[in-house]
Amino acid sequence: MARIKSLEYLKKDSKSIQLETLPINISIYDYALEKAYKINELVKKNYHSSYEWYGYLLGKKENPEVVIDIGLGKNKENGYAYTKISEEDIAKFIDELSKDLIINGWIHSHGNLNYRHFSGTDEENMKKVLNFVSPLTKRPIQKREIIIKNLNIVDENYNIEDLKKGSVTVVVNNKETKNIKIFETIYGSFSYNIVIGDEGWNEKSIAYEEKGVLTGYYKIQTKPCELEMILTGKKLRKDEIRKLKGEIKEKIKPYSFTYYQKRYWFFNWNNDWRNKLFRRENQENINPLDVNNQISKNNQTEQSSSKPEQPNQEGENGRKT
Ligand SMILES: [Zn+2]
Repeated sequence: MARIKSLEYLKKDSKSIQLETLPINISIYDYALEKAYKINELVKKNYHSSYEWYGYLLGKKENPEVVIDIGLGKNKENGYAYTKISEEDIAKFIDELSKDLIINGWIHSHGNLNYRHFSGTDEENMKKVLNFVSPLTKRPIQKREIIIKNLNIVDENYNIEDLKKGSVTVVVNNKETKNIKIFETIYGSFSYNIVIGDEGWNEKSIAYEEKGVLTGYYKIQTKPCELEMILTGKKLRKDEIRKLKGEIKEKIKPYSFTYYQKRYWFFNWNNDWRNKLFRRENQENINPLDVNNQISKNNQTEQSSSKPEQPNQEGENGRKT
């Protein structure tokens, strides 16, 4: 049905009836959360450094409100402080997902960075995930009356002249029908967002979408929430951890950074003045992609001065996400 964009709700008079509700907190299995922190730990072990990685929150099709597991999709780029999800990645993950499961949100890590918020990039990712998740978590949440100005009621014997009247025409088979009320269904859906850190913290929110089928009413919003842990007693088994290790190697790859490139990157990014000093000392620009050059430059600086250690440390703590 085509949407009637010109219709408007009249706030004073229009009546709404609450139907189903959307979750206000994230219900999650203890097992799923344990797995998330385990992935974090394994990423750190495997690459000897913290990376931002992301995964999907999984629920059962018949009960989309509960997060029962975490799934790792192939991460496109894992920087130290930069995780971007693409629509193709989500679609591919859903394609390969077991048919009784759905994704009901996403989870990512800020690694050892103490940035306990969702960043601007995270907000973009939330919207992308919501876009995929909303058809799966959709439900009628409200019936809202539409007050139509200049409603035209005609019977089945209407003619062209009758139809010229009114902004909307309702055809009835009983001429006596005068008092017609029209209610629109508002569909609501949700998608969960969780971000975790190496130190064991987590932040969470729920993204909501509301859609009206008739008027084209559309609203998205994100609200902070709590985790409601469901204790299952289920623990990660050794073989599951082994499998996770393999998945991490395959799916989470540092963005072609070597140790020396990493040092150079932080050095440049966060410490402009030190960087200038560094360059003056070395009297030339360094190509960050040239690993050999990097090694020799870093060695040189280590020999001549102890300063590079400090910028590197500060760089790690002070980076932006
Ligand atoms: Zn983030």
